[in-house]
Amino acid sequence: MKYDCHIHSVNSVDSDQTLDMICSTAIKKGISGVTVTDHADMWYYAETDTLSRIKSSISDTCKAAEKYGDRLSVFCGIELSEYDYDPQKSAELLELTEYDAVLGSVHCVEFEGFHDAYSRIPFGPDFKDEEIYAFLEEYLLYINRMVDKFDLDIAAHLTCPLRYINGKYGRNADIMKFTDEITEILRKIIKRDMALEVNTSGMKGQNGYLMPDERILSLYRSLGGEKITLGSDAHITQNIGNSFKRVVEILKRIGFNGYYYYKKRKGIKINF
Ligand SMILES: [Zn+2]
Ligand SMILES: [Zn+2]
Repeated sequence: MKYDCHIHSVNSVDSDQTLDMICSTAIKKGISGVTVTDHADMWYYAETDTLSRIKSSISDTCKAAEKYGDRLSVFCGIELSEYDYDPQKSAELLELTEYDAVLGSVHCVEFEGFHDAYSRIPFGPDFKDEEIYAFLEEYLLYINRMVDKFDLDIAAHLTCPLRYINGKYGRNADIMKFTDEITEILRKIIKRDMALEVNTSGMKGQNGYLMPDERILSLYRSLGGEKITLGSDAHITQNIGNSFKRVVEILKRIGFNGYYYYKKRKGIKINF
C-alpha cells in the first residue's frame, strides 16, 4: 500500500501534468492513493490567479476521483504557503470545498530586502555564513508561526531552503544549529495532532536527501511523533511515489511502524 500525499497538477503554475497523467502513472506504479495538492502561495495570490486555479484543481480532482475510483483513491488537497500573509483569503480558499488534506508550507521569507521565494535568493559566496544562518532562523520562525496558528493537517517539506543553500549553492549550513527551535516546532506538530511530511523530492541517486533529514525525523520520533506522511512533491509523472520503498526502510530504522494518508482531514494509518 503506497499513498503519495503531495502531488502537483497542471493547476499549479509550475507543473504540466494532467489528472489523467497523474492517475494513470500512479496506477502503473502500484500506488494505492494520491493527494493532489496544488499551490496556493499567498504572496503571489493575485498574480498567479490562485482562486481560479484552486477551483479548477478541486473540480479536476473530483472528476478524476470518479473516473479512477475503482483502481486508485484520488484525494483533494491544497498546498497553502505563507497563510498569514493574507489570513482572510487563506480562509476563503479553505472554505471552497471539504478537502482531504491541507498542507502548510513556507516558500517565501522576508529577508534582507528580498521579498521573494527563497528558491530565487542567490545564496552564493556573496552571502556570509552568518547571513545564511540568520535566514534559516527567520525561516524557522515562519514555520513556528505556521504550526502554531494555521489549521493545517500536514507540515510540508520542513528544511526546504537547504535544497538551495546546500544543494544548489554548495554551502555547508547545518540546520541542527537550531535544534531548540526545531524541537519546539516538532512539539507543536505533535501537540496539535498534525503530521510531519517526509518529502522525497530530493531522493535521487546516491546523494539523495530527505526533507527533513534523518536527524530531525529521529528527533520527532523521540519526542513521541508518530504521524508522518510520504510526499513526492511530484511536478512530473516520473517523480510520483519517488523512492518510497527506500524511504520506508529508513523510517523503519528510525523507529516508525507506519505512516498516514489523509481522507476528509483525518489521518489513516498504514502499518509497515
Ligand atoms: Zn512546497
Ligand atoms: Zn509542493
